[in-house]
Amino acid sequence: MSLFQCEICGCCENTALACQGFVYMADCFDWSYAPEREGKRLCSACGPVSYKTEGPTEYGRWHDQFERIYLPIGMFRTNERGNLSHIETGSEDFKAHAITAEVQP
Ligand SMILES: [Zn+2]
Repeated sequence: MSLFQCEICGCCENTALACQGFVYMADCFDWSYAPEREGKRLCSACGPVSYKTEGPTEYGRWHDQFERIYLPIGMFRTNERGNLSHIETGSEDFKAHAITAEVQP
């Protein structure tokens, strides 16, 4: 399990809490709510709200297991230790880049 950056909202998410970012089981979900999200790594809140055949998922809302921290989109990657690191500096102190003013749905 590791941390990654959601490609839609930019928040820091844990693979264990968001179905590995929804990239490996993409075929199981109904993407009609937002077709452009299929194949992207998503946090639990941006993830699909229903399966193709099995009804609602537990996703579509934040899991509240830890604070949702928004980061500038596209500026972070998952490093070899499974932590988020800043692409340009390599720093794992992603909280230093947190966007606090922006309110997300
Ligand atoms: Zn997200």
